[in-house]
Formats: sequence, C-alpha cells, structure tokens
Amino acid sequence: MAHIVILGAGIGGMPAAYELRSKLPAQHRITVISAVDYFHFVPSNPWIAVGWRQRDDIVLQIAPLLQRKGIGFIASAAQSIDAAGHSVTLADGQTVDYDYLVITTGPRLAFEEVPGAGPVDGHTHSICTVDHAQRFWADYEKFLENPGPMVIGAMPGASCFGPAYEFAFIVSADLRKRKLRHKVPLTYVTSEPYIGHLGLGGVGDSKSMLESELRGQDIKWITNARTTRVEDGKMMVDQLDDQGNLLKQHELPFKLSMMLPSFKGVDAVAAVPNLCNPRGFVLIDEHQRSKAYPNIFAAGVCVAIPPVEATPVPTGAPKTGYMIETMVSAIVHNIAADLEGKPATATATWNAICLADMGDTGAAFVALPQIPPRNVNWFKKGKWVHLGKIAFEKYFLGKIKSGNTDPIYEKYVLKILGIQRLHEPSGPK
Ligand SMILES: Cc1cc2nc3c(=O)[nH]c(=O)nc-3n(C[C@H](O)[C@H](O)[C@H](O)COP(=O)(O)OP(=O)(O)OC[C@H]3O[C@@H](n4cnc5c(N)ncnc54)[C@H](O)[C@@H]3O)c2cc1C
Repeated sequence: MAHIVILGAGIGGMPAAYELRSKLPAQHRITVISAVDYFHFVPSNPWIAVGWRQRDDIVLQIAPLLQRKGIGFIASAAQSIDAAGHSVTLADGQTVDYDYLVITTGPRLAFEEVPGAGPVDGHTHSICTVDHAQRFWADYEKFLENPGPMVIGAMPGASCFGPAYEFAFIVSADLRKRKLRHKVPLTYVTSEPYIGHLGLGGVGDSKSMLESELRGQDIKWITNARTTRVEDGKMMVDQLDDQGNLLKQHELPFKLSMMLPSFKGVDAVAAVPNLCNPRGFVLIDEHQRSKAYPNIFAAGVCVAIPPVEATPVPTGAPKTGYMIETMVSAIVHNIAADLEGKPATATATWNAICLADMGDTGAAFVALPQIPPRNVNWFKKGKWVHLGKIAFEKYFLGKIKSGNTDPIYEKYVLKILGIQRLHEPSGPK
C-alpha cells in the first residue's frame, strides 16, 4: 500500500485528489494537506472584488467533499519537507509520511519585491486570493462614495497578466453601470513590453485588440513599467525603452490600486535542497516529476516554466487552467504506472488557453504551443466569452462539489472555443 500526499487544495490539488482516487486501487491511501480548510475558485476573484460575487458563491469547505470520496484531509500549512526522508511537517506540529508527494501549492505572492506594495502592509490591493479580493471590495465601497484615480496592472516579474486586463475592464464596466466612470481616471501599468504581450510574446491580434479595447474604454496605459515604490496614494514607475534604458519616470497619483505581484514558490517547497529554481518553483521533467526526487511530482503555478522571451522589465509565462488540468492528468497516470512498476510516460500540454472576462464582453486566447511560432495563435473578443466564463465557473465549482473527474477543458472549454483536442506535449525536454 502506498500513501500519496497532495500538498495544496486549489485548482490543481483538488482535481488531482479526485483523479488519483478514481484511478488508483483502493488499497492506496490519499491525503490532501492544505494551508486553509476551503477551496476557492481563483478565476472568480475579480468578480468578488467588485461585489458581483459573494464569498459563499465561490468557496467550498473541503473536508466533507474529500471525506465522501475516502480521501484524507488536513487543514494545516506545510512548514518543511524532508524530501530524503519522505515526510512533511505541518504548522500544527504533526509530521506526515508519504510514498509520493504531489506539490500543487500555487504561488507565494512576492509583494516584498516592490516597497510599499501589497494589501496588508502596503498600499496596493491584490485579487490573487478571495481574502484579498474581499479587502479590495471593502475599500472599493468607500471609494465609490468619493471616487478618484485608479491604477491597475502588474508588477515587475509578474507572470499572470490576463487577470490584470480582466480586472481593469471589469472595474471600468462596473463604474459605467454606476454612472461613475467619468470620475475615475484609470491607468493600466504593466511590466509587459507592449499591450497584449500577456507573458506570451502576444497571441494573435492581442496587441491591437487589447489596445483598441483600452482606448475604447478610455484607459491609459504604461508598458515596460518597472514599478519601484508605492506610497500612500502615489506609485513610482520607471518606464523603460525597448533596450531597457530609462525612458521616463512617472509619479502616478491614485485613490485605489490593484497590482498583481510577481510570484515565487511557497517557502516550505522553496527550501527543499535541489528541488527548485532560485525563485522557488519546482524543477520537473516532462513527466511532471522532480528532477531531484523521483517520488515528488508537481503541477500548477508552483512548477518552473521558463519565460517565453526576455523582456526589458522581467515578465514570466502564465500557467493557466488547461495546462494545469493536463499536468494533473499526467501526474495521475505516471503515479499509477510507477505503482505498477511501469515507466512514467504521460506528459502535460504546455499550451495557454484563457477566457478573460471584460465585465459585459470578454476575450479568449489560445496559444499552442506557448512559445512562438505557433500552430494555433488565436485571440477573439465577444460577449460569448463573458457568458462562457460564467458557465466555466459553474462547471468547475460543480466538478469540485461532485468530485467528478471530467477533464473540464477538454470536455467544455475547447467545445465553447470550437477547437479540437489540443493535447500536444510541449513540456521540458
Ligand atoms: C486572480 C487570478 C485569476 C485567474 N484567472 C484564470 C482564468 O480565468 N483562467 C485560467 O486558466 N487561469 C487563471 N488564473 C491562473 C491559474 O489558473 C490560477 O492561479 C490557479 O489558481 C492556479 O492553480 P494552483 O493549483 O497552481 O494554485 P492555487 O489554486 O492557488 O492553489 C494553491 C493551494 O496551495 C495551498 N497552499 C499554499 N501554501 C501551502 C502550504 N505551505 N502548505 C499547504 N498548502 C499550501 C493553498 O491554500 C491552495 O489551496 C488566474 C490567476 C489569478 C491569480
């Protein structure tokens, strides 16, 4: 009998637990360990931040869901991992042994990289967690009584740009509905070298379409933006040229700001010798397996993926839902094979698909493979994306509630997009 421990119960971890339970023989034990006792649907956080969703709409208590499926659950953060000794020590003091460890701990939000940034000790908000999104909502409600300039965007080193655009457009749509948009000068500040880069070197017409949308919605922008410091109501930004030289310095006044931070790996994972790259992301082979520890696998934002290209202000490549879904399936297949004494052969598809809501319309893109030149390089805008994203939220939460193991992207999203199966392995060699 083997004990498989999954660290993290987010977009990667919960499906991994269900899929392992459905694929592995019953004698193998599965335990999920997570820092908090609930799952939350991260892509809905922008809607929480403007009051379009309530916390209860997107949060599910994990214990009863996993219990029903015969999966163990411990709500306590991992504090350290003894990879040589195959055990994890938790914040509550207990030590859990494992035969296989599946790491799906997502990002650590590196607010400390820009002085004055962050929702707790700093002056910028985030929508990366439901708690952060609720914090924005609390300040936004006060802001609506006395509106002023707003800055939305992504910090140097960020890798997740879709939600930054999404949020700028959602806020703009919300303010329009409230007939307050004219009182809110809105600036999109980004480390991307150009609008629509998205950490992907652009996708199809993303540059012209997103520029056009920003212009249409009267949102100014600063690209190649190295945000250096944030003070109460003021953001200091060095704008670089394409060679990386200083072009202009900006002091942007704001009443409210949401800036996505750069990501790192969580501390307990980053501290394991030889497991991670310098930013704490797990180094894996094409089978999602640690290069240093054959019984450790990783999926989701916690894995190391090289940037698509060097940019004047550092940017990273996004790790999105479809990629995560296929990473999880590859891990399940490979652990099952390993238990049977067979070689690991399954690979994930490192392709990017994103449905970005814009409040009343939306934009979808598909980048296959992630690094250009691509077989599919597709970017489209329309109200159908907004509706598709609402349907996607419903499907995904339904999947987590019921514990079904349908590959949601393969089954629904690709159909919405009218695209055939995209499984084309493009992981590390
Ligand atoms: C605001 C936002 C919107 C996004 N929208 C989309 C979208 O629309 N479409 C898309 O494809 N992608 C989207 N993404 C990208 C990506 O899909 C999400 O970031 C997704 O949540 C990543 O899944 P994950 O499992 O890697 O991490 P997470 O979902 O963040 O899960 C991490 C889990 O690890 C746990 N954890 C952390 N530290 C520890 C520890 N020390 N011990 C134990 N547990 C720990 C956490 O509690 C959590 O349960 C979005 C990202 C953000 C930030």
